[in-house]
Amino acid sequence: MSTVVALRVHDVHVPLTRPFVTAVRRAQAIDVVLVEAVDSDGRSGWGEAATSWRVTGESPASVRAAVTGPLAEAVVGAVPAQVDHWSTALHHAVHANSAARAAVECAVLDLAARAAGVGFAELLSGFTAGSPGPAAVRTDMTLSAPDGPAQTDALIRRALELRDGGFGTLKVKVDGRTDTVDLLARLRAALGPATVLRIDANQAWTPAVAVRTLRACEDAGVGLDLVEQPVAARDLAGLAEVTAAIDTPVLADEAVWTVEDLALVVERHAADLVNVKLAKTAGPLGALAVAASARAAGLDVLIGCMLEGTVGVTAAAALAAVTGRSGATHDLDAGLWLTGASAIGGARYEGDLVHLPMGPGLGVRAASSPTPVGADR
Ligand SMILES: [Mg+2]
Repeated sequence: MSTVVALRVHDVHVPLTRPFVTAVRRAQAIDVVLVEAVDSDGRSGWGEAATSWRVTGESPASVRAAVTGPLAEAVVGAVPAQVDHWSTALHHAVHANSAARAAVECAVLDLAARAAGVGFAELLSGFTAGSPGPAAVRTDMTLSAPDGPAQTDALIRRALELRDGGFGTLKVKVDGRTDTVDLLARLRAALGPATVLRIDANQAWTPAVAVRTLRACEDAGVGLDLVEQPVAARDLAGLAEVTAAIDTPVLADEAVWTVEDLALVVERHAADLVNVKLAKTAGPLGALAVAASARAAGLDVLIGCMLEGTVGVTAAAALAAVTGRSGATHDLDAGLWLTGASAIGGARYEGDLVHLPMGPGLGVRAASSPTPVGADR
């Protein structure tokens, strides 16, 4: 049986199509960090580590150090198909660094899928006793937080463009700088009733401001599908207060990274849904565990991703296919923000659908232009 012989790290700088603005950051480009796991038969498996000091707390340099150091020590020599053996070693190798661990876990699972000749979703479904799910999943499309009232018109124009381009669900990033109720009321009036609107405050509000704003949106007939992470990640009491006070469903994002975090949210009835992302759960196995715990507790699950490229989006789309409720609209638009591909192959966008790749594993390979700068070990 083939074994993992090396991990390599590749950096790919990709400018964005437009600035990505949230309550906590503004990005014009991303540094995609890819992990390539090579096996003794010469196959390559791929994973992506989403990095952002302010979101994941990791950087390309920290990912490289973790991957080429303790994470390589944990998986080099392992048989990819013997998942229980290497995954335990992988997750005990470092504290935190969940994006780096996610990338390595994906890359070695990708090797296992390729060696078995199955798609990534089919491999993941083997851990759930479920089916690989549909061949495509649906995504929302994000609109950056406007920098101020002057940008509201531009945001509305962009929303109409997206609606006309086939996006049924739009997610608006909101923060404290704009009159959110006015913005959303104008947006709803412009879009008409059919477009699903959701908002993400990225922790920007106090519980009192969140309740006041969201009730005002309800009274104004904005019709929100959900509100994502209205208050600080660690303020579970505040999150519970908001969830109890409004009719709009509350989606926990920054508050839930692990099954332990989810248990606290469930205990406090602090949210109605959870946004599961590979960079938070440290890979697909943790994501499947969080999704299963959420469903068992009656919370709905959306699969999201960070600002990341093809490899990360493809893995997340496979996860969405396996765990998603039929008809769910996930949060997988990151690839649509990139001006170029960070890898070749993988998931393919068509309107608001994300088509999973046909081939074995993640179906990706390195883009030819960027030069790998990673060291073998
Ligand atoms: Mg979010």
